[in-house]
Amino acid sequence: MMQAMLLTRDGIKVQSVPMPVPGPGEVLIRVANCAICQSDVHWIRNHQATLGPAGQILGHELAGEVVALGPSVADVAIGSRVTARPLSSCGHCAACRRGLPRACPERAAIGLSRPGAFAEYVVASARVTFPIPESVSFAAAALSEPLACAYNAVMASAAAPGDWAVVVGPGPLGLLATRLLKLRGAKVIVAGTRDERLAVATRFGADEVCNVRRDALRPLVLERTEGLGADLAIEMVGTNEALGQAFASIRLAGRVILAGEPAPGRTFEVEPHYLFHHEQQLIASLGAGESLPRAIRLLAEDLIDVDALITHRFPLDQGHLALQTVIERRDHCLKVLIECR
Ligand SMILES: [Zn+2]
Ligand SMILES: [Zn+2]
Repeated sequence: MMQAMLLTRDGIKVQSVPMPVPGPGEVLIRVANCAICQSDVHWIRNHQATLGPAGQILGHELAGEVVALGPSVADVAIGSRVTARPLSSCGHCAACRRGLPRACPERAAIGLSRPGAFAEYVVASARVTFPIPESVSFAAAALSEPLACAYNAVMASAAAPGDWAVVVGPGPLGLLATRLLKLRGAKVIVAGTRDERLAVATRFGADEVCNVRRDALRPLVLERTEGLGADLAIEMVGTNEALGQAFASIRLAGRVILAGEPAPGRTFEVEPHYLFHHEQQLIASLGAGESLPRAIRLLAEDLIDVDALITHRFPLDQGHLALQTVIERRDHCLKVLIECR
């Protein structure tokens, strides 16, 4: 048996559950750390009421040590320190061959459609585990997944040196995107509603910050961009308000990257006439994709100080407190880590 934080219809509790067993092509990881993601909060909000009695173990931003191998795993060694991408797929169907694992009929995601890592142990497909170098701590490695998500959003934005970029939402993903945009040589304006997060954005390299509760974003952007608007805006909140701010910031032929998770069932109005005449693009970016090894390299080369994002750590048996801290946005929290051993 092992300890795990179980989400059920009635609440969240840490309890004993059977040890997971790695199947063919899978490995068993003893979890060192698992960070809480905003998508865990989304999952709780949108799915908790529909959970069966067995409940669900969340958690997909993990790092740990491989302690057992399932059948036919050749290229992962017991004892290796690893992180894992949440999404796994069969690797050989038409969708996988086209590089679209999210369309694979056998796709599964750690912490969503299969048991997650808010637990002492988790099973992952060997193909989605990646070694982490000695110089990278388990805590930092747990953040390689959100770093990969932010990296993909920035790559989707095609930010070039000298571009003006707007990041709406200085949460952990927005802060990571800010740092990555700076590494690409862009000028960055970060918009948000909380001064303490905007202060972190400045530490992560933001050239300007704008608290949209006090100041209008668009005039600031126009002032910095010779009246043209930003080349791109990355929306990292997932609300219509933030998406509207992103569109209001960009120039003719500018790009909006939708990378914050919106709630289901909402619609967003655009005026096709305006979009057409301004040749603006809306690009969605979701997930770590193939970028986890890149994220690990960024950590190993000390290009991003993810430790600065870790504001709270809780042992597994206080996992419910960890989740509450994120859900209620307590104590200026950014990344909240659950220490699983
Ligand atoms: Zn995540
Ligand atoms: Zn497939």
